[in-house]
Amino acid sequence: MSAKVFVITGPSGVGKGTLIKRLLERVPDLALSVSATTRSPREGERDGVDYHFLTEEQFQERKAAKDFLEFASYSGNHYGTLNSELERCLEKGRSVVLEIEVQGAQQVRQSKPDSVQIFIAPPDPAVLRERLTGRGTDSAEAIDKRLKVAEQELGAQDDFDHRIVNDDLDQAADELESIVRTATCG
Ligand code: ADP
Ligand code: 5GP
Repeated sequence: MSAKVFVITGPSGVGKGTLIKRLLERVPDLALSVSATTRSPREGERDGVDYHFLTEEQFQERKAAKDFLEFASYSGNHYGTLNSELERCLEKGRSVVLEIEVQGAQQVRQSKPDSVQIFIAPPDPAVLRERLTGRGTDSAEAIDKRLKVAEQELGAQDDFDHRIVNDDLDQAADELESIVRTATCG
């Protein structure tokens, strides 16, 4: 099995986190990269597990030190993948999943052209609001901001190697698993 980098992108609320959780249960050898962010933790989120929560100053210091493989601003906050996260996993021969937004995915495409790029799309853009509201983690204002970004993100989906429509969750999870198994075993 060859270690690969999988980049999973898609608009907020499409189901990336849900699908990745299932993927990690089904393919336990995979590691999930823990990103850095300046956004505040949501209820239940733990530092070092869900994200490395950094202050603006800390984030800028890590950026100046060239610690990021990629970084982007999203909906008023900074997000980035630390090189150390990737190295930690790849050194052990494990494939890594990056759950990042579209600008970051483009940067990884440049620096790691052999990364496998997967876009998760909604069956209809209208479900994004329903799912974000149903998730209950973001204010109405934050949801509006995320849906604005989603319009641009949906426009970038043709740049990706793979596109999965997350309508039926089981089917989408099967498709994601199949893409990952084919890339790591091939
Ligand atoms: P993202 O990580 O892309 O922001 P989440 O994984 O948090 O999205 O999913 C957003 C919400 O949508 C969650 O409440 C989740 O349970 C729900 N969800 C995910 N996939 C589906 C699906 N196929 N059908 C209906 N609801 C879904
Ligand atoms: P959330 O605030 O919902 O956790 O994440 C918001 C967006 O930032 C999502 O699209 C998520 O994929 C993206 N994101 C999370 N971590 C990173 C990262 O390290 N880099 C980039 N570019 N985007 C990230």
